[in-house]
Amino acid sequence: VTTEAAALTDRHGVVHALPAPDAEAQVRADDRAHVFHSWSAQALIDPVPVAAGEGSTFWDYQGNAYLDFSSQLVNLNLGHQQPDLVAAIQQQAGRLATIQPSIANDVRGELARLIAEVAPEGMEKVFFTNGGADANEYAVRMARTFTGRRKVLSMYRSYHGSTATAISLTGDPRRWANDSVDNGTVRFFGPYLYRSAFHSETLEQESQRALEHLEQTIQLEGPSTIAAIIIETVVGTNGVLVPPPGYLQGVRELCDRYGIVYIADEVMVGFGRLGEWFGIDAFDAKPDLITFAKGVNSGYVPLGGVVIADRIAAAFDTVSFAGGLTYSGHPLACAAGVATFEVFRRDGILERVRDLGSRIVEPTLRGWVDKHPSVGEVRGQGLFWAVELVRSKETREPLVPFNAAGADAAPMGAFAAAAKKGGVWPFVHFNRTHVAPPLVITEDELVRGLAALDAALDVADEYT
Ligand code: PLP
Repeated sequence: VTTEAAALTDRHGVVHALPAPDAEAQVRADDRAHVFHSWSAQALIDPVPVAAGEGSTFWDYQGNAYLDFSSQLVNLNLGHQQPDLVAAIQQQAGRLATIQPSIANDVRGELARLIAEVAPEGMEKVFFTNGGADANEYAVRMARTFTGRRKVLSMYRSYHGSTATAISLTGDPRRWANDSVDNGTVRFFGPYLYRSAFHSETLEQESQRALEHLEQTIQLEGPSTIAAIIIETVVGTNGVLVPPPGYLQGVRELCDRYGIVYIADEVMVGFGRLGEWFGIDAFDAKPDLITFAKGVNSGYVPLGGVVIADRIAAAFDTVSFAGGLTYSGHPLACAAGVATFEVFRRDGILERVRDLGSRIVEPTLRGWVDKHPSVGEVRGQGLFWAVELVRSKETREPLVPFNAAGADAAPMGAFAAAAKKGGVWPFVHFNRTHVAPPLVITEDELVRGLAALDAALDVADEYT
């Protein structure tokens, strides 16, 4: 990809006009005056105006290029302006731009079939939503109706979305200001060996003790009151916590023992992030409901959904399911989803995620643990990794305090600024930076981006 001042030539040789740099002032002015932003103190932010994107790169109005190591919000699995997705949306818009969900529609049905084909056996039906939070809302509603029970168990270190039920399922501090919403959530500790709640020393201990703790929680809450347990297959924004061997199978067994519905939240890891269609395929456990969003169509048009085990879907064969959304299974979103399947298969996306992850990302990141005093632990799988930064490797004190803001967050701010200066857009959360680039990132881009993060870690080292 090359940029001249006013144009960008993409990898397909197509020239795109870039907005003039002086247009930036208007974008900033409109944004600051009229756009109310998510998760922000409105007067304290200064969002970068982005002029264009292509593949794994996006540009600001000054022509600065950023390699996107966060895939936006870990949704842009096929990168910016993927031509097959863009064409599929354009064609669908020309044919039938929208149709309401109680009418049968070709792309909606085709996408549901494609998803069922790659889902675990015995999960034939898909309920479509507009994104991840509402996918979790609906999964919980199905579980409650199916079991006739109300409580849902979720992990402290978790994020499940920001609508009423989803923010209540969320364990991390994003729920604090929203805690007036009582949705019958009970939280438990998941496995996290580096900061074990169970004082474990090995992965085996951590897995076993976390399961004992979960079973006690179930027993003390009353199994007959618990509708579902919801777990991110690999915990995402709370630290890329890969479940230890046996943990998710153990969850499955507990759900079977106590008649609880197992919901796997795959909003972030579904559709390729771990080198599998569904993350659960890497862990050999079978949920009852799988929620998805982001990667299903790279977020080109909002889409999410719930894949439903046949025995749960069958419960609604003659009893009406009480729920729906105007844009459920929107044709533009589904057309982009069908094209996503074609691109994944044609371009061997799952294989390249496994290859790039194990051959390049893993060894590079593991090397940082010895090289950088600030790197406490690295962990991940596929193209989904976290680098956890500490003040001291001995005490494991986080480089910034938990949920740091303002002056407390300065070390991570300095790290992020250095990464951006080096041409990488990092995903920074608390004391971690995640490595989650588009799955189409080239080997050269990946190596270049990792080198820029490596250099930015020198800045973090100064705070140890
Ligand atoms: N679940 C997980 C694991 C997520 O990472 C997210 C978003 O980051 C959500 C749910 C919420 O998805 P959405 O923002 O599409 O509502």
